[in-house]
Amino acid sequence: MMAEAAHRLGVKLIPLDPEGKASPAGQVAELAVEGSFRDPEKINELASLCDILTMEIEHVNCEILEELEGRGVRVEPSSRTVRTIQDKYLQKQHMVESGIAVGDFMDTPTEQDVAKAGERWGYPLMLKAKKLAYDGRGNAVVKDAAGVSEAFAKLGGKDLYAEKWVPFTKEVAIMVVRSDGGETAAYPLVDAVQLDSICHTTLAPADVGAALAEQASALASKAVASLWGAGIFGVEMFLTPEGDVLLNEVAPRPHNTGHYTYEACECDQFENHLRAILGLPLGGTRLRVGASMMLNVLGNGDMAETKALMSKALAIPGAALHWYGKAEARKGRKMAHITFCADTMEELRARVAPYGLLQDGAPQ
Ligand code: ATP
Ligand code: MG
Ligand code: MG
Repeated sequence: MMAEAAHRLGVKLIPLDPEGKASPAGQVAELAVEGSFRDPEKINELASLCDILTMEIEHVNCEILEELEGRGVRVEPSSRTVRTIQDKYLQKQHMVESGIAVGDFMDTPTEQDVAKAGERWGYPLMLKAKKLAYDGRGNAVVKDAAGVSEAFAKLGGKDLYAEKWVPFTKEVAIMVVRSDGGETAAYPLVDAVQLDSICHTTLAPADVGAALAEQASALASKAVASLWGAGIFGVEMFLTPEGDVLLNEVAPRPHNTGHYTYEACECDQFENHLRAILGLPLGGTRLRVGASMMLNVLGNGDMAETKALMSKALAIPGAALHWYGKAEARKGRKMAHITFCADTMEELRARVAPYGLLQDGAPQ
């Protein structure tokens, strides 16, 4: 999707991906480098072909990015941002230092430390891998003191920290774009409905009231302003029963909860990311429809069945498909998304309801 936006802007984008030209971005771009985004040699090769390096995943090799910056190569957002964010514990520490509201957390290098966290906060608590986490892989819920060993073993061998359980009433998210001068602009707040720790749907605008939406937007903008370099950022937050907003995590890149912007906002997250890193004027972030819903299409192990959902969706007025072109429809893998737009949320729900697309257990 970033490659499509680059083409529209007259910019050549070269992706680095283990599948090279066969990767989703490689299928769209003119040129692609085949290799791992953790391989210094491949990142060097990519850098030799580009004016600016950026990323759409934070689990990249940060050392080589720092080295390249030292040699005068532009990396956006800055490697300092990537280093801070790719370690969730470091990220939380940074947010606290920047005056951002986050839930309680503590370092738990040993099983005994996890038990200490349980004594301090009670159970359940959330045990998290500091690095390389996504889609809830890297998290383990510790239900009680007896579950400490099992959770610790489940995430075996990784550097772990614990978070106090947040009994959130809702999860919300927001995209914030940051210009190369450090100016930020926020998109509308969305409801981010999670199912099994994977984003299931987003609804924009979020149904939380103007005051909470403003509070969340201000928190997210402050969090992004505290980081370094240009680009788009996805900010995940919890709403608490007390009416507070807590930051969960920040992604230094286009984000799943920002996919709806493609159809629903003045300028989509991918184009705005490119505008930001290229030093172009930022695009508008406002909604240009009354309501939008994004539904993730997850692989179920069978490519034909996974694709069948798309033809169902095509029959719905106001639906837009984005098939990523991944070769295998592995179970739980994000294969595509569908965005629905309408003048109002009521109209949108009425359009989508007859097709049974949302009947898989997600809270709506
Ligand atoms: P992503 O794919 O968004 O990067 P991730 O693997 O980094 O996910 P988190 O965002 O840390 O995982 O957590 C996944 C989900 O687990 C959250 O969206 C939320 O539903 C739940 N969760 C995370 N932390 C807590 C917490 N402290 N208390 C309660 N629930 C939590
Ligand atoms: Mg994450
Ligand atoms: Mg998350």
